[in-house]
Amino acid sequence: MKTVAFSTLGCKLSFAETSTFEREFLEAGFTVVPSTGPADIYVVNTCSVTAMADKKGRNFIGRLHRLSPEARIVVTGCQAQLKAGQLADMEGVWAVVGSEYKGELLKIATAPQLDRKVFVEPIGQSLKYFPAFSTTERTRAFLKVQDGCDYHCTYCTVPLARGDSRNAPIATVVSQAKEIAAVGFKEVVITGVNTGDFGKSTGESFFDLIKALNDVEGIERWRISSIEPNLLTEEIIDWIAAGTKFLPHFHIPLQSGCDRILAAMHRRYNTDFFRRRIEYVRSRMDNVFFGIDVIVGFPGETKEDFDTTYRFLEQIRPAFIHIFPYSRRASTPAADMPGQVSEQEKKARVQALEQLCEELHGEFCEANRGRREQVLFESTNKDGKMFGYSRNYIKVERDFDPSLVGQIVDVIL
Ligand code: SF4
Repeated sequence: MKTVAFSTLGCKLSFAETSTFEREFLEAGFTVVPSTGPADIYVVNTCSVTAMADKKGRNFIGRLHRLSPEARIVVTGCQAQLKAGQLADMEGVWAVVGSEYKGELLKIATAPQLDRKVFVEPIGQSLKYFPAFSTTERTRAFLKVQDGCDYHCTYCTVPLARGDSRNAPIATVVSQAKEIAAVGFKEVVITGVNTGDFGKSTGESFFDLIKALNDVEGIERWRISSIEPNLLTEEIIDWIAAGTKFLPHFHIPLQSGCDRILAAMHRRYNTDFFRRRIEYVRSRMDNVFFGIDVIVGFPGETKEDFDTTYRFLEQIRPAFIHIFPYSRRASTPAADMPGQVSEQEKKARVQALEQLCEELHGEFCEANRGRREQVLFESTNKDGKMFGYSRNYIKVERDFDPSLVGQIVDVIL
């Protein structure tokens, strides 16, 4: 077995884990090949956040088996943790590797033979922390700083797949950041399941973490992949606003703009708190990019509730709305709630928010026209154009210039 192909079907956190597996296989002498072609081993890092994600995972595994019937398929990630038996029964699957065994994935994948296919411990037992960071992308790296979640929102299976909130010590994360800087990355995105909840298993704090990361030489820009509104404290906002390498770009889950629905979701804030948090950030920083997550069609969400959410978004005017139609997930309290919304109605609500998002994003970009900004240009050359993102996450294009790849450049938007 000499060739291996990697696929990530999930989030930035999974991407960082896959990239870590890839480094381990490379160190073991494997050649990495694309998963669109034949390979001796396929490693698939799955997602299970929605029913659609599960379906995509199974279809993808089926496609790999048809591509290379002799190949070993090793499945890991959230679907592996939640649906191990189902996946183990699929043709071509050599092993299903859950959270607890991620550190042994290479050994399991390359073992001469196995006495079982399923390497999954029930969530709830003492869970190891699998440190990870990505160096596969060329422009920005993803650094996993936290795993698991203790929040148990009523619609979410993530705590069931990833266990309790835990993390590596700040010293470990800082040394990983130094490794990333050593290979030349200028921008890093810190990621986790509930990133702002960093410190639960080490008695440290998210604030101490970002202060320590800010001092890592060579990394010039830090982004926070996502943070719960109640964990983005005024202390952190004041510190970021005082001039650090952390950028004016916040991805914050709102989920609903209706307090009754937020309560049914067991979210840890109401709309008044959320609005005041946004306003506080805006009072401390200019031209901040807010990306806001919203779930439409949560059980019991009436048309009036949805209109309330729509008006709330019009009020806080984020730069972008990440829209998710509610997905009924087994073993979650919301799955048994009354007032399940029809797929057709969910679709209509998604479309309404997509239109609003287009308007708001256009408005945000227009408000930045003519401003001086700093853009980190990427390596892609599409029809003679290259792309990059400003500090406040506006996508920018210009004529391709190879000397600017991976460089942070002053521009007028
Ligand atoms: S905070 Fe996020 S990951 Fe945690 S339970 Fe809620 S939705 Fe899921």
